[in-house]
Amino acid sequence: MIKYNLECSCGETFESWFQNSSEYEKLLKKNLINCYVCGSSKTVKKSIMAPSVATSKTSTTQKDTEQKKEFFKNVKSKIRELNDYVAKNADYVGDKFVSEVRSIHYDKKQKRNIYGNATLEETKELQEEGIDVATIPWVPKENA
Ligand SMILES: [Zn+2]
Repeated sequence: MIKYNLECSCGETFESWFQNSSEYEKLLKKNLINCYVCGSSKTVKKSIMAPSVATSKTSTTQKDTEQKKEFFKNVKSKIRELNDYVAKNADYVGDKFVSEVRSIHYDKKQKRNIYGNATLEETKELQEEGIDVATIPWVPKENA
């Protein structure tokens, strides 16, 4: 079995299971893959995962709402995994992040991984200075 993310031109994205990729091609050719929202079979295509997880559509059905909740719960738990990884492999410097990262970079302090708070603007400045920084999403612990 193979799972594909499908996308309809009406803007809906959904997942569907197929025996294999040729099964998918076969069904697609026969117009047997339907969008569950608008019912169209002509405009459904395999989609590349969207970089954004937010959806502007309002949920209409209970199932929809629950799927969305489940989805965001999974996203959160993945982000938390990422957060845990960072916490294990870097030192937390909180609001001192920007000055710390600069002093590591310019004062040739011992290289170490740090993480902390910075605004988007500060992050951009650091990147322009040639410093390796990345913004990652962070899930507050109390949201667990
Ligand atoms: Zn559709």
